[in-house]
Amino acid sequence: MNEEAIFQRLLALVEQYHAGRKQGKFLDYLDPETLAEELDLKKDADGDWQQLFQWIGKYLQHSVKTGHPGFLNRMWSGANLPSIVGEIITAVTNTSACTYEGAPVSTLMEHYMLDTMLDLAGFAEGEGQMTTGSSNGNMIAMLAARNQAIETGKEHGLFGHSPLLAFVSADAHYSLDKAANILGLGTHNLIKVPVDEHGRMQLQALERLLQQHRQNGKIPFFVCATLGTTVRGAYDSLPPLVELREKYGFWLHGDGAWGGAALLDDELRKHFLPGIEQLDSFTWDFHKMAGTNLMCNVLLFNHHRGTLRCVCSAGEHSYLFREEDKNAELDMGTASLQCGRRVDSLKWFLDWKFFGKTGLAERIRHYLALSEYAEQVVHGIPELEMTVPRESFNVCFHFRTPENLPANEFNLELRNRLFKQGISLVGIAYIEEKLTLRLLITHPDYSRADVDSFFSTLVAAGKELMHEHLQG
Ligand SMILES: *Cc1c(COP(=O)(O)O)cnc(C)c1O
Repeated sequence: MNEEAIFQRLLALVEQYHAGRKQGKFLDYLDPETLAEELDLKKDADGDWQQLFQWIGKYLQHSVKTGHPGFLNRMWSGANLPSIVGEIITAVTNTSACTYEGAPVSTLMEHYMLDTMLDLAGFAEGEGQMTTGSSNGNMIAMLAARNQAIETGKEHGLFGHSPLLAFVSADAHYSLDKAANILGLGTHNLIKVPVDEHGRMQLQALERLLQQHRQNGKIPFFVCATLGTTVRGAYDSLPPLVELREKYGFWLHGDGAWGGAALLDDELRKHFLPGIEQLDSFTWDFHKMAGTNLMCNVLLFNHHRGTLRCVCSAGEHSYLFREEDKNAELDMGTASLQCGRRVDSLKWFLDWKFFGKTGLAERIRHYLALSEYAEQVVHGIPELEMTVPRESFNVCFHFRTPENLPANEFNLELRNRLFKQGISLVGIAYIEEKLTLRLLITHPDYSRADVDSFFSTLVAAGKELMHEHLQG
């Protein structure tokens, strides 16, 4: 095949897949052994494009259709078309976004988008970068806080210092535990603060812990507010945390990976994120509710211009970054933990220009309205029950079971059955040892009718499963 024919075939496949993403089942499920056989992974292609296209066909056939209304598991679904187009261009131009020299357009687009986000968050004299995701964003924020707490930390490590302690809510994302491991704190020095009945960090408990540990000679240096917890969607309250920071002098970071999208709408921002402009740092995944292709993350620092470069750079890198070049101050690579950096800016820029803040805000309000509706629907179905009341975008519910049928096992079985039948993939999580199904709506075309049909299918499958159990 010549290149022209290859591109024609490719674009036709892409178009066909995208057009059919909402049809049929969301997954043509095969167990790993059968799928491995089907893929014939050991076969060689030896320059044969037909063979490559066979694999591509199978990839598409057996992929999870994340743009299907049945895909409700993760914190995103499908992707915005402008960003898909951006990704294709990124692939065909394939450069590394570490220097202006090698990635002029991407560098300017990234700076433009970061400045726009700094304005949106109300961060004055701030700076930012796109990272590989909020896990990484959380870690870089903790690293900056660590090096601020121990000024010689970058060069000499943590030897000879009292233990550094970081604080998060008990419902915080596991990436904070990873950061504590990577940064040399030790996971036991990430203190999990109990949550209240809304799933928010208990502030009195936090203050007691801060006092107690400080008295014991430890250094509380970092508090991470979760702005939309992964399971319940709870937002830690920022104004009292800002007050505590005055008293204890820690770095206050906001993990808005999921719930940071509320920033797009002025009303939602007031409701969910009051005080956000006072954070020291903030991370947010544009690839979650805002729908940009994976990965698309923004990490912002407030009042700390120059910190990212100071914290992240190390070692001799003059072969790549040439400080004598006046454009070098634009280089994103010197302020990053990576060397090569994937271009994530083009897709982000295109989405932003296409939908605008107004269009995206409308989308986020739509998701919130649908989750309110979903909660009402759950209340109206006798077989279902909310596991905990809804805090924001997350709807945590379960199928009720009679006493002789363990609820956790039953709900897990129900969820797995819906998955293997290719009907829907809905998330699960535990809230105080109770297994909950977690409905997350992140599909821009999702409607009330889709909510109704999701629940009616689930209830029908649940009743059938219940029948089987009670018969057997
Ligand atoms: C998804 C999520 C993360 C992790 O983000 P990645 O971009 O997948 O690394 C971190 N924190 C919260 C609250 C999340 O929901």
